[in-house]
Amino acid sequence: MNYCQVFLKPKKEESLLRFHPWVFSGAIQRMDGKPEEGDLVEVYGANGQFLAVGHYQIGSIAVRVLSFRQREIDAAFWEERIRIAYELRCALGLVDTPTNNTFRLIHGEGDSLPGLVIDVYAHTAVMQAHSVGMHYARHEIAQALQKVMGPKLENIYYKSETTLPFKADLDNESGYLLGNEAEDIAMENGLKFCVDWQKGQKTGFFVDQRENRSLLERYSKGRSVLNMFCYTGGFSFYAMRGGAKLVHSVDSSAKAISLTNRNVELNFPNDPRHQAFAEDAFKYLERMGSNYDLIILDPPAFAKHKNVLRNALQGYRKLNAIAFEKIKPGGILFTFSCSQVVSKDNFRLAVFSAAAQSKRNVRILHQLTQPADHPVNIYHPEGEYLKGLVLYVE
Ligand code: SAH
Repeated sequence: MNYCQVFLKPKKEESLLRFHPWVFSGAIQRMDGKPEEGDLVEVYGANGQFLAVGHYQIGSIAVRVLSFRQREIDAAFWEERIRIAYELRCALGLVDTPTNNTFRLIHGEGDSLPGLVIDVYAHTAVMQAHSVGMHYARHEIAQALQKVMGPKLENIYYKSETTLPFKADLDNESGYLLGNEAEDIAMENGLKFCVDWQKGQKTGFFVDQRENRSLLERYSKGRSVLNMFCYTGGFSFYAMRGGAKLVHSVDSSAKAISLTNRNVELNFPNDPRHQAFAEDAFKYLERMGSNYDLIILDPPAFAKHKNVLRNALQGYRKLNAIAFEKIKPGGILFTFSCSQVVSKDNFRLAVFSAAAQSKRNVRILHQLTQPADHPVNIYHPEGEYLKGLVLYVE
């Protein structure tokens, strides 16, 4: 092992001793050697005690920890970590069942691999690096993935042009590390989805709403449903299968709407209950009537940084206020926030003040979060990002 060594200031080892996987740049006293972005480094306490090994990066998070044991980060390491994650997904019943072959295989810190996300869609794994270290390790990771998943894995698409820190000045690095299929039909809970990882948002599909979509299905019978921010239409097909009277899907992206229409055809060909609209959410909500009695609001992250938190909370309040105002009596609202910097309490507060503004009686039926294939590392509570409320509006 020939890694550079990073020494922390006195007392700055405490969070690492509690297995928190980040070292902030302000905690560093000195470095032996000159690590480059993405290099592996060893971290030591002020007293010389070994603490961790991880990826070095220039920025506020200086080291993302891969192991709290002194070890080589080699092919065996990647295979071991990916195998543990894969076995967990198998145990969760998500892998290659007759009804499901879509799941998140690696969820960053939640799988002790900070900076790495891998989603699996049928025969394809889509990999995103959020750190330069993971970017450099992409070929080793792809090899480990093939070892763990075997020949059923036909494509690995690496998609990091929007997730890598742009300061690192890496070339546009998206492309195939295995195979070359441009899209795949994946299955989630018995419903089919066409996933376009090259042109789609994130890795191509939002796997994290699987269980919340299932819950929605149970509430859909006989209802008029508005799926706002529908993207590829996930919630809409569950609503249709659940017996909804009509389903309207809305997204500002025309590409998302065409994917939604395609997915409807895959599952419910020529079903007149569904219509999709490419329109801005606020415009649609303002002009729509009061005909919906089941509304889903799943907006993109309104806040990506702490300094825009206030505006984001205003955004959630405004959005939910229109829904409370317009939903039919006895209606049900599924409302979400996927902003990591918006806490559960802050989100609730925004939704509560929206409810108060409408002066309607509102009850909380369910409090929702991300599913088990997006696990939260107990030592890294920041990993809990998806928050949802299911509300009954009198
Ligand atoms: N509910 C979806 C995921 C939503 S992601 C699912 O289950 O898969 C957020 C979506 O909001 C994106 O598709 C994005 O195109 C859309 N969006 C962003 N800003 C919008 C706006 N102002 N009006 C309508 N849609 C918007």
